[in-house]
Amino acid sequence: MTKRDYYEILGVSRNADDAELKKAYRQMALKFHPDKNPNNKEAEDKFKEAAEAYEVLSDGEKRKRYDQFGHDGVRNGGGGFSGGGMNMEDIFSHFGDIFGGAFGGGQQRGGRRVNRGTNLRVKVRLTLEEINTGVEKKIKVNKYIPCSHCKGAGAEGGSAYSTCSTCRGTGQVTRVTNTFLGQMQTSSTCPTCSGEGQIIQHKCIHCAGNGVIKGEDVISIDIPAGVSDGIQLSVNGKGNAAARGGVPGDLIIQIEEAPHENLHREGNNLLYDLYISFPDAALGCSFDIPTLEGKARIKIEAGTQAGRMLRLKGKGLPSINSYGKGDLLVTINVWTPRNLNRQEKEILEKLQSADNFKPQPGARDKGFFDRMREYFQ
Ligand SMILES: [Zn+2]
Ligand SMILES: [Zn+2]
Repeated sequence: MTKRDYYEILGVSRNADDAELKKAYRQMALKFHPDKNPNNKEAEDKFKEAAEAYEVLSDGEKRKRYDQFGHDGVRNGGGGFSGGGMNMEDIFSHFGDIFGGAFGGGQQRGGRRVNRGTNLRVKVRLTLEEINTGVEKKIKVNKYIPCSHCKGAGAEGGSAYSTCSTCRGTGQVTRVTNTFLGQMQTSSTCPTCSGEGQIIQHKCIHCAGNGVIKGEDVISIDIPAGVSDGIQLSVNGKGNAAARGGVPGDLIIQIEEAPHENLHREGNNLLYDLYISFPDAALGCSFDIPTLEGKARIKIEAGTQAGRMLRLKGKGLPSINSYGKGDLLVTINVWTPRNLNRQEKEILEKLQSADNFKPQPGARDKGFFDRMREYFQ
């Protein structure tokens, strides 16, 4: 059989550029596609012929040799085209590129599925003290681990895998459906091998061929200082093992913050409400304030007003993203007694009309909101 000229097959001139070649090939392929011409040997030959022509002409090197030496140039030119021996699988493997998904899922062709383990989520509850310093936590998790019997391969006694006969190892099966646009070829995951392209001869009895079993793992994680409630940390590859030697999932740790008995967190700052008695406010005193690193003594000056805020610089929490620490803000509350005995009442009644006990707020005694504004500026 004499071979036809490649340009003639595609019906293009010898100067045709890539776009023209592609367009011509696309038309030929659609016309002679085996799915459109079932059991038509002539159409199939034309289809293969066009694919071969396009294969050569779309490749700059091969096209040059073909232009110079004709069919011999590409047949014997080394690394070239074997000529007419192109199988349908090869032809289809180009479809994704050429048809840009016209046949649906074309890009998936030949792509075997790699098993991926699922992500594992755990909650880790931390105290503010732990958040302050950062902490190493050992977490016991129930998860899928590789089967030790078959070393995660899923095959009994190292028995071999065989290529899946349904999809011939590609992991994909193609199906032709009729739509109003004409016939469409769609690819989907092979149901026989679940897209893996191969099948185990003898499944491992311990894991039923999955390569993974339910198990337990103790994972140690370094939690950085400054995390906060709701933050998620991801530990690569520490999630569920994947079936038959795939890529394990991630371990995702969600941080929960345990409430502190004395301190309240506000961003990187800590808030503390201190209650002092009226005499302490009037006469002055010292108090021990709980911090995350032991106690800190603060001095309350004589004449301190209720609502005053004291700042203990750097006694807050570190930031997870930057240097520096927040502050501990102590709000002074002056306790007004609720129950008074007769003697206490008498003392206070004497003071009630004293000049020094009349409120005389001045510029120094700013309201709460002014002080907050001042602080955050
Ligand atoms: Zn096993
Ligand atoms: Zn298969």
